Amino acid sequence: MAKSSEHNSMKGLGAKYGATVRKRYGRIMGNLKRTRRCPSCGSTRFRRRSAGIWACSTCEYKVAGEAYDI
Ligand SMILES: [Zn+2]
Repeated sequence: MAKSSEHNSMKGLGAKYGATVRKRYGRIMGNLKRTRRCPSCGSTRFRRRSAGIWACSTCEYKVAGEAYDI
């Protein structure tokens, strides 16, 4: 039997990187998927548009944040 105790959030990275990097990757992916609220109109359709740019697709409110979190 092969051991398969990897976390779901680590999918797609394989064992190429160290445990620390994989842990960080899982946290970042969780951040990206998390629903956020637009600070302008309160809509939950506020998400990352590209690295460093977060935008609301309801009111077009745009804000510059960090690449993986706001
Ligand atoms: Zn908005």
